[in-house]
Parts: sequence; C-alpha cells; structure tokens
Amino acid sequence: DKVQRQRDREFNEFRERLKNTEQFKVEQSVFDDATLAALYKLVQDGYVRAFGGPISSGKEATVYSALGDEERGEVAVKVYRINASDFRDMRDYLVGDPRFEELGGNKKRVVLAWVRKEFANLKRAQKAGVRVPDPIAVQRNVLVMEFLGTDGERAPTLDDAHLENPETAFEVVREYMRRLYDVGLVHGDLSEYNIIVHDGELCIIDLGQAVTIHHPNSGEFLTRDCANVASFFQRQGMDVRGDELEAWIREH
Ligand code: ADP
Ligand code: MN
Repeated sequence: DKVQRQRDREFNEFRERLKNTEQFKVEQSVFDDATLAALYKLVQDGYVRAFGGPISSGKEATVYSALGDEERGEVAVKVYRINASDFRDMRDYLVGDPRFEELGGNKKRVVLAWVRKEFANLKRAQKAGVRVPDPIAVQRNVLVMEFLGTDGERAPTLDDAHLENPETAFEVVREYMRRLYDVGLVHGDLSEYNIIVHDGELCIIDLGQAVTIHHPNSGEFLTRDCANVASFFQRQGMDVRGDELEAWIREH
C-alpha cells in the first residue's frame, strides 16, 4: 500500500546515503541489507540522528561514532558482523547462561543473542555500580551506547592512558570486579584494553562475552581476568598478584 511504498522509498534513500558515506566503506564491511535496516530503525526511533566514522574495527564488531538524540549528543554504535563472527567461539560463552538457552547451532541467532547479552550485561553492571557506557538501545546486530570521549575523540584505554596513581586505579578495578561478581557476572576478557579512562573515571567496556557464574568456565575466566589485571599493575610497579586478587574478589 501507499504507506509501505513511502517507507520503502525512505529506506532506499537512507541506504543510498549510507552507502555513499566514505566512512562506512571500511575494509570489506559494507553493510548488508539487514544491518542497514537495523541502523535505519535506530534512526527512525530517534536513537541516532547521523553516523560518523569508525573508531575501532575488531574481530567481530566495528564501533562507530554517531550523533544521538538532542539530549545525548555523541553516541557509540557497535555493529556486529554476522558472517565474520567466530560464532562457535561465541556459542561457548552462552553456555549455561539461563538468559540465553536453546539457541542451537544457528549462527545468526547466536550473534543476535550475543548483542542482546552485551546490552543486558551493561545494564546489570551499571545497576551494580560499575561504571560502563550507558546502554541506550539494541536493534538486531547493532548496539547503541554512551560515547566515552570528548569532541569526537574517543577516551584512551588504560593501556594508552598516563596513570598518575596506579594504586587508586587498581583499587577501582578491583572493586568493579567485586561488584560484577556480586551480581553474578565475570567479564571474561578483562585487561587494560577493555578499561577506558574517561573524565578521570575508569570505565569497563566490551561486556559481550561476560558470563554469569553459572557458566561452567566462569571460575577459569575469573582467574584469567585477575591474572591480566595483576600483570598490568605489576608493570606499573605494583606488588599485586592474580591469585590474591581473585581471593579478595571471592571473599568480599
Ligand atoms: P572489540 O570486541 O572489538 O574489542 P570493544 O567493545 O572493546 O570491541 O570496542 C573496541 C574499541 O572501541 C575500544 O577499545 C574503544 O577504544 C572503542 N569503544 C568501544 N566502546 C566505546 C564507547 N562506548 N565509547 C568510546 N569508545 C568506545
Ligand atoms: Mn575490546
């Protein structure tokens, strides 16, 4: 009908505009139609007003800067690639999570569950008092969240930041890990690369692979997170140990 045709026209215009945007022609990833439809829906729903350039391109997802609603200003848009994703590996992280059971072997469904899981994990972490990017919206394989940075410049990771006071930073990270554990979450990929220093605050990012403590490997993941964090702070000259950090998190 008429309304539908009008919608189709608008969508096609949107698609052409995005396809002609130089910034979206990163590596092989010109968006497929389903991803474009998800981006379009986010625009229609008012979460995004305009797209900026890529700020990071990882194995499974590309993160873009974008203009959010009036109130937000800049936002970060994380777009997962369904085809490039190593979904076997992803599926391993969904095991035992009562929120995401019965996905079976369907690659697309695994990736879409992964995005919803990242959104849910961000919400849960935020509620537990862990500073994370404020999750704004999720649409299919696209996650919109608060942009950590100023004037289009993303904030540095802990790895890149100049740390005035590593002792305080360590205490904050330790407390964040404890709070996550308290609400039944283990990050699973925690290191100086997934911690951002924004506005003098430490923020934890990249919670897609975070698992609940029901996961059969959650203990192993916690041990690995603790080892990564301890090793980073050792390189800052501190006397910290992964096993002691883990014991502290479990006991507090
Ligand atoms: P990946 O799975 O590719 O590691 P991340 O979620 O860690 O995905 O994001 C990759 C990079 O993008 C981060 O290291 C960070 O520099 C940047 N980034 C991610 N989320 C945000 C955000 N909300 N605000 C600003 N930069 C971000
Ligand atoms: Mn990351």
